[in-house]
Amino acid sequence: MKRLQRAIIVLLGPPGVGKGTQAALLASRFGLPHVATGDLFREALGQNTPLGLLAKSYMEKGQLVPDDVTIQMVSERLSRPDCARGAILDGFPRTVEQAEALDRMLAQSGDSVLLVLYLSAGEEVLLARLASRWTCRQCGAVYNSQTRPPKVPGVCDVCGGELFQRPDDTPETQRRRIQVYLEQTAPLVQFYRARGLLHEVSGEAPLEVVQEQLATAIEDALARRA
Ligand code: AMP
Repeated sequence: MKRLQRAIIVLLGPPGVGKGTQAALLASRFGLPHVATGDLFREALGQNTPLGLLAKSYMEKGQLVPDDVTIQMVSERLSRPDCARGAILDGFPRTVEQAEALDRMLAQSGDSVLLVLYLSAGEEVLLARLASRWTCRQCGAVYNSQTRPPKVPGVCDVCGGELFQRPDDTPETQRRRIQVYLEQTAPLVQFYRARGLLHEVSGEAPLEVVQEQLATAIEDALARRA
């Protein structure tokens, strides 16, 4: 019997559009691991590993960590057993080189990208969201002090951990990150559209509405695959 390809789903979109929040919800809904390169780098940084120390200077400046390092980290992550059925990729690929490397690494196991969900939003919305973003130090859950506040200010609803604002969420770094996105990541929209894999959803709609639209697109793609 023919093996089903892994359900590799990419979440693409500018910083602040809600990729992390949506990816976490989709991951638990579809029983797939949430593979977020930003989280992997922050984890490495928290543990002071050589990878974390290397990533630190780039992250602080709002720049991308070099492709070779990032690709190697993702390749290792996707080879772990919890990714056997697929994964929700959040924040990767972020350059055309990374997208081509992803294709090559998936081809080795007879797989390919199933679907690319493109979340779009205007720059004003992105800057407002980034400025009000709070993240749990313990479990990584993300809140928005305006639209999605925690029940108790400064405390995570999920695990009770302390909430903090990311050091790369300062106004100057935010603008830099949006700039980097436009220059290096936005070309992926065309890259995946040309391959017939892109599904665009407006990230400006309320969280629940966006979630349903993304989930429907995944269900359709899974049904086509079967
Ligand atoms: P994020 O949490 O996705 O906003 O990522 C935070 C930071 O981690 C980015 O600003 C980059 O410095 C770094 N980073 C995350 N994903 C990648 C990637 N795919 N390629 C290069 N750098 C990345």
